[in-house]
Amino acid sequence: MAAMAGDAIGSLKYRLGLLTSRFRAHHPLKSCPVCRTEDRHVYQVAYWHVSHQLPGAWVCPHHGEPLQESRLKSNGVGRFHWLLPSGTTWRSPLQSPSSLVTGRLVKLAEGATALHRLPPGYLLDQPALRATYLEALEQAGFAKGGRVHHALAAQALVDSYRPLRHLDELQALPATEAQASAMLTRLVSVHRMLTHPLWHLAAIEFLFGGWQAFRKSFESHRRSAATPGTTGPAASLKTIRSHPRKAAALALLKNGATSCRSVALSVGVDTGTVMAWATAAGVTVGRRPKQLTKPKRAALVKALRRGTDKAEAATRHQVSVQTVTRLLRTEVGLQTAWHAARHARAQADARHAWSSASKRKTTLGAKAIRALAPAAYAWLYRNDRAWLQGQIATLPKVPAGNHAGTNWRHRDAELSRLVSQAIEDLGARATLQRVYQAVPALKAKLGQLDRLPMTSALLAPVRRRQHH
Ligand SMILES: [Zn+2]
Repeated sequence: MAAMAGDAIGSLKYRLGLLTSRFRAHHPLKSCPVCRTEDRHVYQVAYWHVSHQLPGAWVCPHHGEPLQESRLKSNGVGRFHWLLPSGTTWRSPLQSPSSLVTGRLVKLAEGATALHRLPPGYLLDQPALRATYLEALEQAGFAKGGRVHHALAAQALVDSYRPLRHLDELQALPATEAQASAMLTRLVSVHRMLTHPLWHLAAIEFLFGGWQAFRKSFESHRRSAATPGTTGPAASLKTIRSHPRKAAALALLKNGATSCRSVALSVGVDTGTVMAWATAAGVTVGRRPKQLTKPKRAALVKALRRGTDKAEAATRHQVSVQTVTRLLRTEVGLQTAWHAARHARAQADARHAWSSASKRKTTLGAKAIRALAPAAYAWLYRNDRAWLQGQIATLPKVPAGNHAGTNWRHRDAELSRLVSQAIEDLGARATLQRVYQAVPALKAKLGQLDRLPMTSALLAPVRRRQHH
């Protein structure tokens, strides 16, 4: 990142494997047509999804829909423009793919997304990665006693990748047995490990059928390498060769160094990196008691396990947000528990908001309730759709084309526009009285606010503030 932000990128292209991998640095903007429709439905505008832009993503991980490629930028025209999906025309690189190919591309996209979510350098534990690949090759009958049976494995690789090579981006996957054999050599090489993530994603898809199985195996190899006693001298020598600073830092910590900061200084990396290495290797490190006393730490961990917001936890326990973030990163298993608890909370909040909005106005249809609780609707639509549809099914049907209904909807739209403008103009001085003065038409409708859901939703916070 420092090189990208500086004047020259130096040897970065080489180190990223762009010069040697045959994969090009050609990244067209990609998008899923179903996501675009949903985005417009929920947010009124379609946006670019990060998970679609990742190398190796050619099918939407959400919908299994083939991604489309923007025609803009890829030809160099307007490549410095800002654009939204609505301003582009599309090309479909995957013309009616077979369900088999789609299924494999879904696995590839899931792997890309999972890898993207992990801390940088996750796959750089080369000894563990090599052991993971070798074990999978042995289980598939492509290797024995640490030696790869090239003739067999190379043919299988070529056959397996043939249908995927139709995609431009994946053309670099081995087409001949010689190329496949070279890939296999580097897959299990200690010194010349493959660098480009697409090689690894493709290998993982071939050997494990998907990310989950790979992750499980890789984690077990990482753990066994980090447990003292199970690693022979040869293995630790490999760690030192491939990652000398990490090995030195872990050695210092295992020999009783208590401060990550001092270890960081002596090996020349930052403290957070040392903490992340230590956590990944399962080494418990001494925490600085000055900043986080044992009871305070325990209380914070407890609060985060319940899914408390980072900023809220920081304020309540009088620590910085960075401290909370570091704790999430370094306490084994805490981040996962926190995310799960946050999800459960968001779900409970959204369901509650939806239910109370629909209870308040039992005569309203789904559309009006959606206007009353837009955030809850958006969350439920994305994350809890079955429940949402169940709820909508219980609502009364508001007949379409009902003239009176249309009138009220129209009035509500008009009034809410005026009211929102007035509230914005008044700023902190907004009171109900001042809003009524600014929007005279509203006064006549005060007795019928229950037929004006959008307007009454805008007035609710003003009313609440006045009551406090
Ligand atoms: Zn999609």
